[in-house]
This record gives sequence, C-alpha cells and structure tokens, in this order.
Amino acid sequence: MKKATLLFCTVLMTVSLSGCCIKHNWVEATCTEPKTCSRCGETEGDPLGHEWADATCTEAKTCSVCGATDGDPLGHDWTEATCTEPKKCSVCGLTDGEPLGHEFAEANYQQPSKCIRCDETQGEKLVASFEEHGLEINATLDRPISYKTCCYDNAKKETVGSVRFSDFQCFKGNDYLPEKDGYVWMSIFVTVDYTDENAWNYGFRTGRSFEDYYTIEKNDSSLVWHDSISDVPNDLKPFCQKMSKNGMEFINYSTFTVNHNGNDYSCEMIQATDAAQGWITKKHGYWGWHYYMCVPEGYDGRVLVFYHKHGENDWPSGKYIYDIADEDTIFFRMDPKLAQGGDL
Ligand SMILES: [Zn+2]
Ligand SMILES: [Zn+2]
Ligand SMILES: [Zn+2]
Ligand SMILES: [Zn+2]
Repeated sequence: MKKATLLFCTVLMTVSLSGCCIKHNWVEATCTEPKTCSRCGETEGDPLGHEWADATCTEAKTCSVCGATDGDPLGHDWTEATCTEPKKCSVCGLTDGEPLGHEFAEANYQQPSKCIRCDETQGEKLVASFEEHGLEINATLDRPISYKTCCYDNAKKETVGSVRFSDFQCFKGNDYLPEKDGYVWMSIFVTVDYTDENAWNYGFRTGRSFEDYYTIEKNDSSLVWHDSISDVPNDLKPFCQKMSKNGMEFINYSTFTVNHNGNDYSCEMIQATDAAQGWITKKHGYWGWHYYMCVPEGYDGRVLVFYHKHGENDWPSGKYIYDIADEDTIFFRMDPKLAQGGDL
C-alpha cells in the first residue's frame, strides 16, 4: 500500500512538471506567437497578427510592430520631365534631374517666338513691313474709292477715277485651277472707271502694283513675270488658253515668294484683263482685271495697290512702295476672311 502511494505521487509530480507549473511565466503575445508560458510552453489566445503598413515607392509592405516585410517596394511611377518640371514620381513627388527648359523657335510675322514643346510664347511677332512704314489699308470690298493719277498725253494733268475691288473668292481648286497641298486660290475682280474730262481728253496712266503686307522687299525681289502663255506651267495652261471663252484676256503669269508662319512659299499669279474693258460711252471708260493667286492656306498678306503715276511710265528703279506711296495711294488687302465666295 505504501509503495502504491509513492508511485502515485511520482506520477503526479511528473505530470505537474510537464503540464501545469506552479506559476506560469507568461511571455506576451507577438505578431506570430500567442501569449506563451516560457516554463511550460502553455499558450493562451491567438497571435496578434501583423500590423501591415502599405508598400510605398521605396519600401515593401512592412509590419509596423515587428518589421516583417511582404513582397517588394512598388517602385516610382515617373512622369516625364517637361519644360518647367523635372521628371517626377506621381505618387511620392520625388524628382529626378532638371526641367528640360523651353526650346523657342524664332518669331515670324504670324507668331511670336514659341516653344516647340509646350507652345509657351515670348516677345512679339515680327513687325510687318506695312506697319513699319506706316502704310495703311484704306480700301474695302465692293466700295468704290477715288483714284487720282496723271493723264497719259499730258502728265501734268490729273484725272480722278474710281477703283473697285469685287468678287473676292477663296477656294482649294476647281476644274481649271488645280488644288495644291497647303495652298489655296484667291481670285478677285478689280476695276477702275474714268469719267472726267481729262481722262477723255488726255488719257490716263494707271499705276498698279502687287505687294506683301509683311515683307515688301522680299516680295519685290522674288517677283518674276512671264508674258507668254508658253511660259505658264502645264497644269495652268488650259485655264490661260480658255480664258477668252470666259470674257478674259491673258496678260501674264508671275511667281513670287511669301513667308508664312516662318516658312517661305513659292506662289503664283495669273493676271487677265476683262475683255469688255474700254470706253463704254464717250467720257466713260472702264478697265478691269481678274487676278488668280495661289498662296499658302491662311496667308493674308497680299496687297493690291493703285498709285499715282506722277508722269512715270515704269516703276522707278530701286524704289519700294513705301518710297512711292502718298495720300492718293489705294491699298486693298486680300484677307481670305473677307472672301465672299469659294468652297472653303
Ligand atoms: Zn507554465
Ligand atoms: Zn508583425
Ligand atoms: Zn515615388
Ligand atoms: Zn516649353
């Protein structure tokens, strides 16, 4: 009996040492381990679980308690550098390098200096020749305007006619005038009526010229005249040859250069007289011209001029319109926005 009791106690002590200690020594729960007795290994409750902080550009998802990580950093989400901003992470705002800076193209007659990337502008447009020389557009469409010039037989005498610009059209092309990439056709009818004594008695000298609002000198130096239909390019020949059927007579074909948006464009003009021109009645003469011009799309610098001849037969050599113009000079600007017809 005594032996049996001893055995029981031994069993009891063995059980207590491995399962239930006299006093647990608890270690607090962690992210991954529950509250645990360091003596007997008994646990209570669950692990706390990690307190994850989201991943950032440069840090992986990380437990704010134990520092454990999961996965990889997100990496920066770069937006490209612009003229004024460096390369930049759209998430964290970190920058890399410098802004690109603007790349300004040269100013021209239509636009100030402008950045080729962002359209930022600086400064002003170039000053147009007409503005530089104080030449003012003074004629409008469909409104007769007085035109003073000298007589033919007696250059000391003057006649006062009446000039009119009408039927201004702008179009891409038609059956006769071919479409050209980047260009439009402009056509206009111009007349001058002479009705006074002096014109009838002594005749008249009509001074006409073709100018460029933006570049007077460049226009003059680029103008080339061809008086024969055989010199007209093939694509325009049929039109010049058939003009008479439409009440016109071919005068000449010319080429000239204009600058538009910073680029030089080679342009063309066909000039014809109105077949019905001449003295309609005694003391009433009318002369008319049809102009067909191929110019860059959007270009508004063609200026038609009537000037006082002051006894001169030809254009005074070495002179420009600003040397010749006076208060009697008529300027009409072919701004396509004023065109009354055409398919544009
Ligand atoms: Zn314990
Ligand atoms: Zn943790
Ligand atoms: Zn970032
Ligand atoms: Zn820029």
